Amino acid sequence: MSAIIKTEAVVLTKMDFGDTSKIVSLYSKDFGKFSAIIKGARSPKSKIGMAVDPLNHIQVVFYKKDTRELQIISSADLINHFTAIKEDLDKLKYSQAILELLKNLTVEHEVNERLFKGVIRILTLINSNSELPVILFGRFFIFFLSELGYELQLEKCSVCGRTNLENMELSHNFELGILCCDCRQSHVEFFSIKPELFSCLCCLKNNKKIELTNMAAAEKAITFLERYLKFHIPDFKGIQSFQIFK
Ligand SMILES: [Zn+2]
Repeated sequence: MSAIIKTEAVVLTKMDFGDTSKIVSLYSKDFGKFSAIIKGARSPKSKIGMAVDPLNHIQVVFYKKDTRELQIISSADLINHFTAIKEDLDKLKYSQAILELLKNLTVEHEVNERLFKGVIRILTLINSNSELPVILFGRFFIFFLSELGYELQLEKCSVCGRTNLENMELSHNFELGILCCDCRQSHVEFFSIKPELFSCLCCLKNNKKIELTNMAAAEKAITFLERYLKFHIPDFKGIQSFQIFK
């Protein structure tokens, strides 16, 4: 059976197919991630081909057939094309990283409306200069990890349960969790968490303001989160977009 479906989506990737068409990967509000073909998209006259470009937030209509691997797009309208992101290398780098996480780590056809809304919200914030892209990306990354089922726990030591972990040397053991200054002596450290990094991770997770002097900590936080994710998902090789924009 095939049905005509309308949904919102963000475009993850786009590539040529045959002489005239394009294949795109979309992360959608109502159907999760899926691939689709746009026939005739390589013609300069194709309106759909123009709207469906990586990063764009679109409304798309397609013929949905469950037995088919590639859905067929019949029309697409632009909702937002995030112009400011496309004109700024730093914004682009972190936005590409978001697309990459969605492309590589979400499951085909798995619907998650909260994640979809989170993606649109963070791209809108990156586009509008509300905070530095590195900080907005850090906030998204922690949210994304919890949506994947790997929520970062920072409230208490994972061994003794001690709270108020500020201003002490901590460790993280990816298997156990965060370790206080006492418990870190007797357990394997996977990543050293200095007070500055801990405070930055808490601000990112709890959506609190981060001081401008804490930029280095924000980058360190992202490195930590990448290592944490690699431990839980061995197939994840780190964020490739960061290499491209080096
Ligand atoms: Zn402890």
